[in-house]
Amino acid sequence: KRPGGGGGYAFFTKELAERDLQERIMTLDLSRALAGNDFEFAFQPIFRRADRAVVAIEALLRWTNRRTGEMVPPARFIAAAERSGIISRIDHWVFARVAAYVSGLVTRGIAPPLTMINMSPLTLEEAGFIAGIDQILRKFPDIGGHLCIEITEGVMVDDRVRLRETFRKLGDRGIRTAIDDFGTGQTSVALLRDIPVGFIKIDRSYVAGLETDPQAMAIVATIVRLSRDLGIRVIGEGVETQEQLSALETAGCDLIQGYLWSRPIAAAEVEALLERADAT
Ligand code: C2E
Ligand code: CA
Ligand code: CA
Ligand code: CA
Repeated sequence: KRPGGGGGYAFFTKELAERDLQERIMTLDLSRALAGNDFEFAFQPIFRRADRAVVAIEALLRWTNRRTGEMVPPARFIAAAERSGIISRIDHWVFARVAAYVSGLVTRGIAPPLTMINMSPLTLEEAGFIAGIDQILRKFPDIGGHLCIEITEGVMVDDRVRLRETFRKLGDRGIRTAIDDFGTGQTSVALLRDIPVGFIKIDRSYVAGLETDPQAMAIVATIVRLSRDLGIRVIGEGVETQEQLSALETAGCDLIQGYLWSRPIAAAEVEALLERADAT
């Protein structure tokens, strides 16, 4: 039974309509932002613990809505973009821009680290996905080996055969793959055996639990051991404290990403970081 009777129902639908309208407006804004190249990137370095070498960077999208002047967090506009379907245009745009960025590094003699790109599983499921990737790779033929596509694991289970095929095709093109937010979805660990995955990223919630929760420690250590046996590399995400860093080391995870060592930074800072590493 509805509390508040008919008035409550009217209020409820009004709220839904309001939300729907907001999303339509955001979709239009996003569409305009794509046309106007209004997006930017921040890059977060991923370090090897032993020597603090930058082994990878993750491209994270940044959007300031030109109409409102508001900086919209990706968690919000990506979710809206997935609901409206504009996500695949955004993901292909991101791939093309990151490809151009990495190609630019190569041209200037800077060895690019592995560059990780987030993509919605919805984009990978589209029929024209690989064709779209190929179109971009034709423009930047030298960069396939420097790229890695990250997918969150939640949606993977439904379409495992299709996804396996897509991952394999990416692999044929030299593009590595990663499962993001590992441990939050439904992926059985055995699935890792069947799908060609280069990396998993242990979700921030497990990393945060490492300090206080002995079970989190046991789970992470098991994931790391199993991944190693399968030839999959493990990145610990959202590392904020020295204690988390030490616990990850104890668990055998030597690739780390998090505010403790670096927040997401601008492209120019990435280059400074890489050139510094080059000089030593
Ligand atoms: P994600 O892929 O899990 O990315 C990591 C998020 O955690 C980033 O937030 C990053 O800034 C944040 N982070 C990194 N280190 C720490 C830490 O030590 N502590 C805490 N509390 N947070 C940390 P961001 O940039 O706001 O991105 C949020 C999500 O938006 C991403 O989560 C990803 O799912 C999505 N996203 C970002 N860029 C793209 C994109 O280009 N395409 C798609 N499809 N999704 C994107
Ligand atoms: Ca990610
Ligand atoms: Ca993540
Ligand atoms: Ca996430």
